[in-house]
Amino acid sequence: MSTPELAALLALQDLDSQIDHEAHRREHLPERAELSEIQRDAGSKQGTRSELAAVLAEVAARQAQAERELKATEDRAAQVNQRLYGGSVTATRELMAMATDVEGLRKRASELEDKVLALMEEREPMDAELAKLDGELAELGLRQGAVSRRLEGAEAEVDATLALLEARRPEAVAAVTAQLLAIYDRLRARLGGVAVARLVGGRCDGCHLSLPAMELDRIRHQPPGTLEYCEQCGRVLVISGV
Ligand SMILES: [Zn+2]
Repeated sequence: MSTPELAALLALQDLDSQIDHEAHRREHLPERAELSEIQRDAGSKQGTRSELAAVLAEVAARQAQAERELKATEDRAAQVNQRLYGGSVTATRELMAMATDVEGLRKRASELEDKVLALMEEREPMDAELAKLDGELAELGLRQGAVSRRLEGAEAEVDATLALLEARRPEAVAAVTAQLLAIYDRLRARLGGVAVARLVGGRCDGCHLSLPAMELDRIRHQPPGTLEYCEQCGRVLVISGV
């Protein structure tokens, strides 16, 4: 193994690390987290809105029913009243019964009016809450659109960087011997994408552990280009400065 061969391997690792870094960055763009937060928020508000709308519909139905009853009662009272003063009925007892009837109907109408008013009052805060939720949901919709557009822009930027890096890869791969490439691919799959580490100041920058003094001494006395592995993480160790 010659030193340039190890240098080529290290260059490939550096390139792949950059590609992995950009891919990771693409997955973890802050806009993506922001977007899921908006979607969660909107989902929860939508749930609250549905529940509220169901309660509101039930109250509205009760109000409509009371209004129908009120109208029927008022109509009936007007009819009886018309007959009472129409002159067609002359019997005192019948007239008195009709007067009592009108009085009863008007009392009932007054009760129904109160009921309609009470139901309207019951609806008022719910209507306001619903309008507030609709406003917030519309606002979230706008924000979602804006963040989506920002996310697309950020993704396109990372994709452009990734495309440039990927374009360099075939050449970097071609510079590495088949034997080293096989080792590289195997270690990379096993060790989270980092197969080659630098030995810097007695530490492996793959696992960040210091090598034992004896091991360091042994490595330093190997001929340049010797293939060495970190005892601790198993990565190919390249002495910094190769
Ligand atoms: Zn290590």
